[in-house]
Amino acid sequence: TTFDDLGLSKKIVKTLGHLGFETPTPIQAQAIPIVMEGRDLIGLAQTGTGKTAAFGLPIIEALMASEARPQSRSTRVLILAPTRELVNQIGDNLRAFCQKLPLKIIQVVGGASINKQQFQLERGTDILVATPGRLLDLISREAVTLRHVSHLVLDEADQMLDLGFIHDLRKIAKMVPTKRQTLLFSATMPKTIADLSAQFLSNPAKVEV
Ligand code: AMP
Repeated sequence: TTFDDLGLSKKIVKTLGHLGFETPTPIQAQAIPIVMEGRDLIGLAQTGTGKTAAFGLPIIEALMASEARPQSRSTRVLILAPTRELVNQIGDNLRAFCQKLPLKIIQVVGGASINKQQFQLERGTDILVATPGRLLDLISREAVTLRHVSHLVLDEADQMLDLGFIHDLRKIAKMVPTKRQTLLFSATMPKTIADLSAQFLSNPAKVEV
C-alpha cells in the first residue's frame, strides 16, 4: 500500500515524500480509509506507531475539501492529549503535514503563558491541539469557542483518564456539536475507555495494531 492508494491528495502525498514518509504504517493503512469515509474510530495503538498521521492526514483532507472559507479560521478540529510533550509533538507533526496548505494550527498547554495563548487564539485557528485543563481555562476566558468543531480527537485516552481528566473531557464533550466525527486512540482498552467510547463515539469502527 502507498499513501496514494489510501486516497490522499497529490499535494499531501508529495509533502509526505519530502518528510520521508514513503510507506504507510499499519495503523495508517487501516485507519486512513475509515476516517476518510467520515466514520468514528477507536484505534488501539501505542505511541510511535504513526497514529498522528493516521488521524491527522484524513482530517487535513476533510478540511481542505470542506466549503468553509479558508480565511474563516474557526476551530474545526480539536485534538486533546494528556501531556505538554504530546500536544507539542502532535502540533509539530501536523504543521509539517500542512506546510503547503493554508491551514493554521495552534497548540495550548498548561505551564505556558495563558495570556499569550489567549491572544493567539483570538486571531483564530483551524486546528487546536490542547491539554484538557488549559483548554477549559481558555474557554472560560472566552478565548475560543468549540461551536464549529467538526472533528474531535482524543489521543492517549487511557492516559487522560489515568491523569484524572474525565470530568474535563465530559465538560468539553458537551461544548462540541453532536454532529461531528470523533476518533479515540488508546494503548489499552479497560472498561473505563469502553464506557468513554460508548458516550462520545457513534457506531465506531475499531482498528488494532
Ligand atoms: P507517532 O506514533 O505518530 O508519534 O509517529 C512516530 C514517528 O514515526 C514520528 O517521528 C513520525 O514522524 C514517524 N512516522 C510516522 N509515520 C511514518 C511513515 N509512514 N513513514 C515514516 N515515518 C513515519
